[in-house]
Amino acid sequence: MSQVLEWLETESLGRVGLFVTRIQSVARRHLAKKTVTVRSQAREEQRTNARLFAQVAKMQSLVRMFVYRFRAARKAQRTLIQYCPHFGEPYWYNPHTQVKSWTKPKVLRHLDSYSLALPEEGLENVVNCSYCNKPAEVNCNECEDSMCRVCYDSMHCKGARLKHRSTKIPHCAYCKFQVATKACLTCIITDPARGTMRESVMEADRGHYCDTCFIHEHDSGEKALNLHKQRRKDLKNILAYSSQAYLVNQYLHQRIITSHHFEDMVQSCEECNSRSSTWRCQD
Ligand SMILES: [Zn+2]
Ligand SMILES: [Zn+2]
Ligand SMILES: [Zn+2]
Ligand SMILES: [Zn+2]
Ligand SMILES: [Zn+2]
Repeated sequence: MSQVLEWLETESLGRVGLFVTRIQSVARRHLAKKTVTVRSQAREEQRTNARLFAQVAKMQSLVRMFVYRFRAARKAQRTLIQYCPHFGEPYWYNPHTQVKSWTKPKVLRHLDSYSLALPEEGLENVVNCSYCNKPAEVNCNECEDSMCRVCYDSMHCKGARLKHRSTKIPHCAYCKFQVATKACLTCIITDPARGTMRESVMEADRGHYCDTCFIHEHDSGEKALNLHKQRRKDLKNILAYSSQAYLVNQYLHQRIITSHHFEDMVQSCEECNSRSSTWRCQD
């Protein structure tokens, strides 16, 4: 009997051991399989993350570059000035570096810089001080003379002249060099477009224009004329060498085409009634 029991015990223990080994091996296999899947999944995830990260980094650097270039262009737009001579090629000028360029600087990209027209040489509408030849700032109503502040003060510091009254000579807010001849109401009350010269001018002064700047900012016909280089050259040649100069002059003196409401600050030209004659002291 005890022998039978002993055999049974050994047999059952052996069987249990067998089962345990079997279960263990199944579990091991399962675990190993799981580990492999987990590992490959992790690797896949890592790869995807790396790809995404690279894409995001690329996007970010693109955005950064775009923002940087746009800011640089906006800054250049506010710094550079495009000068448009009456006859001749327009050029770009950087007042900080004093560099002139006859091609549009690349830094501007799609933007246009502030633009100023230059009056015909010798026909600048400037008033100089009768005493020192510097730009005049005031006009004495009694002396009927234009002078700079310094000369005016030294001339009017004593005697009867102390009672003289003076009128400030208005200057163009755009070129700050010629005498203002036109006051544009529309330019005062409307917001300027981005990148236009008007944006750079103090709000209160936006209406004060010399003829050159007024036409440059308002007359689309004049702008078109400036754009056609060949036409400009032709005009110059005709003006210089031909008997048709009078006709061309008539053409240049045609009425200014603009929807803005403006007033003449000085008498306008008798010939065309739209451009101002040069500044004269009050009679
Ligand atoms: Zn002076
Ligand atoms: Zn005086
Ligand atoms: Zn001006
Ligand atoms: Zn205007
Ligand atoms: Zn005229």
